[in-house]
Formats: sequence, C-alpha cells, structure tokens
Amino acid sequence: MQTAVVLFTSDLRLHDHPPLCAALAAADRVVPLFVRDEAIAATGFPAPNRQAFLADCLAALDAGLRERGGRLVVRSGDVVEQVCRVATETGATEVHMAGDVSGYAQRREERLERALAADGRALRVHDGVVTALAPGEVTPASRDHFAVFTPYFRKWRAQHGRGVRSAPRRVPVPEDVRSERLPARRRLSGVSPGLAPGGEQEGRRRLAAWLRDGLASYAGRQDDLGDDATSRLSPHLHFGTLSPVEVVQRAGRGGGPGAEAFVRQLAWRDFHHQVLAARPAASREDYRTHHDRWRHGRAAEEETAAWREGRTGYPVVDAALRQLRHEGWMHNRGRLLTASFLTKTLYVDWRVGARHFLELLVDGDIANNQLNWQWAAGTGTDTRPNRVLNPLAQAARYDPQGTYVRRWIPELAGLEGRTVHEPWRLAADERAARGYPGPIVDLADARTRFEHARGTGRGRQ
Ligand code: FAD
Repeated sequence: MQTAVVLFTSDLRLHDHPPLCAALAAADRVVPLFVRDEAIAATGFPAPNRQAFLADCLAALDAGLRERGGRLVVRSGDVVEQVCRVATETGATEVHMAGDVSGYAQRREERLERALAADGRALRVHDGVVTALAPGEVTPASRDHFAVFTPYFRKWRAQHGRGVRSAPRRVPVPEDVRSERLPARRRLSGVSPGLAPGGEQEGRRRLAAWLRDGLASYAGRQDDLGDDATSRLSPHLHFGTLSPVEVVQRAGRGGGPGAEAFVRQLAWRDFHHQVLAARPAASREDYRTHHDRWRHGRAAEEETAAWREGRTGYPVVDAALRQLRHEGWMHNRGRLLTASFLTKTLYVDWRVGARHFLELLVDGDIANNQLNWQWAAGTGTDTRPNRVLNPLAQAARYDPQGTYVRRWIPELAGLEGRTVHEPWRLAADERAARGYPGPIVDLADARTRFEHARGTGRGRQ
C-alpha cells in the first residue's frame, strides 16, 4: 500500500490541484496535510482578517475532502518537522507540494527536501499552482527575470499554459492519522466587520458570478472607485481557493476588452511573483534604490498615524484607508493613491505603509503587496518612478460624483459636488460641526519636498 503526503500551503482547493492529482496517481492513499506554521505566527503579524479567511478555507477544504471519503489533517509547529513526522507515521514515500516564490518559501522547500531525503523520501514540487505561469517559464533572453511589465506581458500572453484538472472524485486517507482541530473563526478578535467569507465553494461561486455579470464591463469601470466593479477575487487567489490557471483560462475564453483587461491584471500578479522569485530581498529592500532619506521624527509619525486612521483631511485618501479597516480589502485605485500619498506626499518609507496593509489586507501577499508598494514609491519596477498622484486630481477622475467618499466618510455625508472632495471650502462653523479634520499637509509644499529629495525639482534639473 503506497502512501503520499500532500502539503497544502497557498493552494487551499480541490479543483485544478496538480500536487493532489499527482499524489493520487502515484499512491493508494494520500494524507492531505495543512501545518499551522509557527514561523509565520512568529513574524509578529497577527493579521486577524487573513486568519479568519484561512479558517473558512480550511473548513471548506475539510468539507470537500469529506465528501470524497477523506478529511484534512491539521498539525502545528515547524513545518518541516511536522511533514517529516506525518510521513514517518504513515510510511509515506513522497510529499507533493506547490512551488512558491518568497525567500521564506524557497528556504522551506530546500529544508524539506533535505530532511525528507535524509529519510529516503522524495519531495515533488509542482509549478503553475500558485501562479498561472511559474517564474522561469517566462524569462528575457539575457536576465533571470523581467524588470518591466509590458515585455513580460507580451511573452506571458503568448504562452498556452497547462490544462485545467478536475477535482478528484475520491480521496482515500489513512484512518489512523491524528489531526488537530481546525482553527475556529469565531475565536478570533480584531476581524474587520465587513470581511468577505472564504473557502473554495465561495471562491467558485464568486468566480462564476463575476464571469457572468462583471467581466464584460470591467475595462471601462475597473478604476472607478464608486462603481466597485472589480472581481474581488484577490483573497481567493492569495489563499489558492481559486486556481490562477483556471481563472485565466475561463476569463480569457470569451474574449473582448473586459476579458483582455482582466487577464492583463492577472498577469501583473505573475509578474510580481517572478520579480520576487529572482530577488527575494525585494520584500524588504529597495528593488531600485534612489537613496531616499525617508522622513522620521515626531511630525512624520503623527502624519503617518493620521494616514493609518484615515484622517489626513484628503477625503479620497481617507475613504480608501477606512475601507481597508472596515473590509480588510481596498480598491486597487485606492491602494495606488494612498501609497503615493504616504511615500511621495508625506515622504514616509514604503515599508511603513506595506506593513500597515499586511496587517489588515485579507489578500495581503508578500509578492503583490511589497512590490506594488515599491512600484508606488518609485523604488520598484515603475518606469516613471517620480510621478506623484495628486489626490484631488485622482478624486475628480476616479470618484467624480463623490460616491466613494460619501460611502466611507460619514462626516461628509450629504455634501454635494466638489465640496465633498475639498471640505476645507466649507464655512468654519460647518466644518467644525462635521468633525472632519483639515488637511495635514499642503500638496504643493509636499511636491517640492519630494522633487527636491529625488533631485528632480525644476530648480535642480
Ligand atoms: P481585479 O481588478 O478584479 O483584478 C483581478 C486580479 O488580478 C486580482 O484579484 C489580483 O490577483 C490581480 N491583480 C490586479 N491588479 C494587480 C496588481 N497591481 N498587482 C498584482 N496583481 C494584481 N494585491 C494582492 O493580491 N495582495 C496584496 O497584498 C496587494 N497589495 C497591494 C498594495 C498596493 C500599494 C497596490 C497599489 C496594489 C496591491 N495589490 C495587491 C494589487 C491590487 O490592488 C489587488 O490585487 C486588487 O485590488 C484586488 O482586487 P480585485 O480582486 O477586485 O482585482
């Protein structure tokens, strides 16, 4: 009787799961294993929104396995030790898992391979599980990764990728293998009140609804803050309750501008993953340094605190930061303009903002978060690193009716026209009655400070 372990990490699904398919083909019984990794818990990121979403995902995975005659085995501790222990207990000869890109994931894979080999067992790593195309499948002629998106996308789009696999009908699991209880969502505190539910069934339901109702009109509406017309599939892609290969193929099938624009966004996800795979230090160090001397000290700390709380006095910035706190998710346009505001207008280190996002985002992801922050700060792969997003111009363009601001800032409810984006125009007594703060920074002064710091100011050119 052959046994194989399948280690689930960022791939918490049964549909289109190459490691599970390969394990079932190679062995009579499989152990679907999830390890609550103490190293991740020790990073000091409690991230209750991701914990809650994870609890939903594990419950759904367990339910899906039970429908197929199996169940999920959960252990806690050092991931390598736990996998080896389960393999020894069950006599498994192989462990299957998805390839992943962060420095931590790369080290985990190397450690696991060595530890298993020492016991005569094999680690089988499967690509195209966490991303649609694995880093290394699309590379330029003379470098290990693409540093610019457009040429990457051209090559990425020309690839056909692998076929989508069905979910297995049966998953035979050895009966005597011990499992801890699944983590319970209800025990968690600090979860955002508007957090969306997780789990594979929920992800598949959302994908089907999106393909039916949202995709066709995505191209014209993706940046409209008030419209809220993006897929909101990011948490499912982050936890792997949806397969990126399947999402790309199903979305691309019908063609049209909506599908084309959406698939392009999915390629951004793969793009950032291939950058991080080649440069794991980019999760904490500038990808391209400008020797920024980010602001420190009391004033910068107070302004950063106001930014975190959504009290900068710039309504569109504050609306986005309050959406993050309430839902554990933020619209992409909001992420871009709040990140530009922190790093360029306030000239505060991108790592400070990236950390705040990682604490709250349900889709918080090392590759996408850190490299998008670097992109917005101009230390990453943006080909125009010194452009500064003006929050008033952004508001006029992407929230022209003020719908988004009124949704998230109750102090400004009922205000019509331009005033909702410029409440400092109100009479002093009305402003005071509403209790919304004045701007914490003058935009023109901030722009001069940034240009001076980067050496791009008119006086310095
Ligand atoms: P849609 O517009 O429906 O796009 C579909 C999918 O494409 C998304 O689910 C996502 O997987 C991918 N995608 C879209 N835009 C990007 C992008 N710029 N980079 C990478 N992938 C993209 N995304 C995360 O998944 N996790 C993060 O931690 C994260 N942090 C970010 C931080 C900043 C400062 C910025 C500017 C962007 C960040 N993004 C992050 C990217 C993007 O904002 C989100 O993926 C998107 O808003 C998710 O909403 P959606 O699923 O409705 O997106």
